[in-house]
Amino acid sequence: MDDCIFCKIAQKELSSEVVYETKDVIAFRDVAPVAPTHILVIPKEHIQSLSQLGQSERSNLLPKIYDAIDELVKKESLDDKGYRVVSNTGKEGGQTVNHLHFHLLGGRSMQWPPG
Ligand code: 5GP
Ligand code: ZN
Repeated sequence: MDDCIFCKIAQKELSSEVVYETKDVIAFRDVAPVAPTHILVIPKEHIQSLSQLGQSERSNLLPKIYDAIDELVKKESLDDKGYRVVSNTGKEGGQTVNHLHFHLLGGRSMQWPPG
């Protein structure tokens, strides 16, 4: 999608600190981190949000996203300490970039409920 910043990051038209990449998935550090580890895991394909995920993507793409998260959790040494995975969805969900993404947050104690 032409005016999507995450599509541009996925296509390397915009620079970012890439920490994981496969054919279908890319992960990069958030430009405004809210935790010592704050990584965004996204499909390279433009999908707006979890609510736009079709049945076949649910079966094919989500396992690939979770493979990325698994590997990154190990790389960032979060497996014993714990971490949080969040996908803000839609306006009331707090989504500001309309390209499906999963925040991987770790390295500090998380609060609940989120704001
Ligand atoms: P959302 O609010 O949609 O759940 O999350 C969007 C996230 O994308 C925010 O945490 C924001 O800091 C991050 N972000 C926005 N623009 C850029 C960018 O150009 N590069 C990177 N690395 N992160 C971005
Ligand atoms: Zn996009």
